[in-house]
Formats: sequence, C-alpha cells, structure tokens
Amino acid sequence: MIQQANIHGPGQVALDESKVPEPGPRDAVVRVAACGVCGTDVRYVRMGGLCRPMPIGHELSGVIESVGAEVSDLAAGTRVVLNPTASGNMIGNGGSEGGFTQQLLVRNAADGGSLFPIPDELPMHLAALSEPLGVGMNAVNRADVNPGDKIAVFGAGPIGLSAIATLRDRGVEDVVAIDLSPRRLELAMELGARATIHAGEQNPWVELKKLHGEAPLMGAPMAGTDAYIEASGAGSVITDVLQNAKGESSLTVVALHEQSVNVSFLWVMMKQMTIRGAMEYPADYTDAVELLTRWDLSAMITHRFPLERIGEAIEVATDPNVGGKVMIDIDQEVGQ
Ligand SMILES: [Zn+2]
Repeated sequence: MIQQANIHGPGQVALDESKVPEPGPRDAVVRVAACGVCGTDVRYVRMGGLCRPMPIGHELSGVIESVGAEVSDLAAGTRVVLNPTASGNMIGNGGSEGGFTQQLLVRNAADGGSLFPIPDELPMHLAALSEPLGVGMNAVNRADVNPGDKIAVFGAGPIGLSAIATLRDRGVEDVVAIDLSPRRLELAMELGARATIHAGEQNPWVELKKLHGEAPLMGAPMAGTDAYIEASGAGSVITDVLQNAKGESSLTVVALHEQSVNVSFLWVMMKQMTIRGAMEYPADYTDAVELLTRWDLSAMITHRFPLERIGEAIEVATDPNVGGKVMIDIDQEVGQ
C-alpha cells in the first residue's frame, strides 16, 4: 500500500492508504521524491477541495518507477519533474491523482509533455521548484522586459521570488520587491532584488519614486518604474499601480485575485499602459530546470517536512509570514 494526502472537508487533510498504482499502456508511475506545498493547495484545503476526497500535490520531482508498453521515450530509473496539467491530467488540481504520495500514476505520459528528465546533479528538493519557478518565469516572459528596465514586483512569496530570480538570471538588475513580510523581503534580497520596500511601514510609491526616479505626466510626478509584476493578490495594488505608473509602462498580473477590483481605465488610456495576465507555467520545463541546475535556489525553501506531517506543513504554508516554499520530502532515498 501507499499513502495519499486527500482533502476531506474544509481544513481537513488526511493521509489515506491506497493501492500501488499500475501503469496502463500509455501511462507512467513515478516514485515521488519531493513535492512542494503550493498556495493553491492552501486554497483548496480552506475551501474543502474541488471534490471529496480530493488528492493534492502538484509540484514534484521523482524517479520513473515503471512505464506502460506504449511509452517509448521515457524509461524506468529516469529522474524527472512533472507538468501536472499536460495531456488532460489535473494532478493535484481536481483529478484522480495527487503528488503527496509515494507513487504517482501519470496518465498518458506517452504523449510527452508531462515528465521532463532532470540532470543527476540537481537535488530532488530543488528540482521540485520547477513548477513554481515556471510560474514566475512565465510572468516574466509575459511581462516582456529588457535588461535595462526598472521593475517592481509586488508580493515576495514563492511566485514573486521566482519572478525576481528569473529577472536577475536574465540580466535585469533593477528589481524592487514590495511585501508586508520582513522574512520574505530578506529572501527577495538573497535572490537578487536591488532593494525592498516594506509596504506596512513605508509608502511604496514614495520609495519607488526614490529608487526608480519620477516621470511627469501632465505635470504630476509618476513613478519611473517601467514594468510591474503583481504577485501579491491584493486588489489595492492594481488600483495603485494604474494611478501611479508612468506612461507606456506595463502591469503583469500573475496573482490569483479572488475579489473584483474597481479600477479607472481612464489611467490605462491616458498612460497607454499595457496590462497582461500570466497563468501557470511554460508548457516546456526546460528553462526552469536549466535555471535550477545553474543557480542554487535553496534559499527559496524555508521549511521541509516528511509526508506524515503534511497537515502541519499546510498550516505553516498558510501563514503569509512564512517566507518561502514549504517542501515535503517524501522519499529521500530516491534518485538523490
Ligand atoms: Zn503550484
């Protein structure tokens, strides 16, 4: 038997026993090494799941245990990371499988696009950052910035931090992080932010104007920031950015905004702003895996728990002051 973390109701997560999965002809089974706790896991737990019981966990690394007869380009023993939503799978997102388990069935792995091999030198707990790093990377791709641009990242949780690391990795030096948590701001500095603003103690717009200069718009001084990445989920950030941004600047929204935001599109028109959304990760994980192999992002992982303590781990991840990523080490022997 194996264990699987399932949501059984609002705030209720249990490790249930289940059968060792057998791959169908087009499937693969992965022995899971590590799986990160995501902000969406926390949301699913709070709301009681999309279905019940709902298996969770989607940010994982592991080793292929077995493949079906029709899977030709993947082999047992290969170290991999997972795209949880490729090939119609919804692993840890409402589908019948979840990554907080010892052995995970990946349906239709034969299609390609679900499992990506990783280099031997990349430790499993770092490899499991591929998915959240991919989300930050996708936001940066969408933001379409240049190395000389001045960037502000609102929200320095794992996604904001991933965006900051990606920006620095691509030679963008002037990245300012804004958050309410001192711990997160510390991490932002570690991952290459030029400066940080504590939004609870400082006025972000006064500070951003000091750091990025001012750009006048009809006589009024706007912040000189070229591009904003919104990874905080606070509606007021969107309103404030539209009001304080300079002409021709851009705003990319990667945070999940559960509430509607009341904004004036007069600003968008007058400033000729560009607003973009960014969801999930690039379909191909190669860039994320390559960055993780080149740059040790261990600082992003602030907590590690064994699978038996999944409930506690989710509680820790619920606290916005927690800092970085909460990682579940499932099988430390696998592929290390
Ligand atoms: Zn995630």
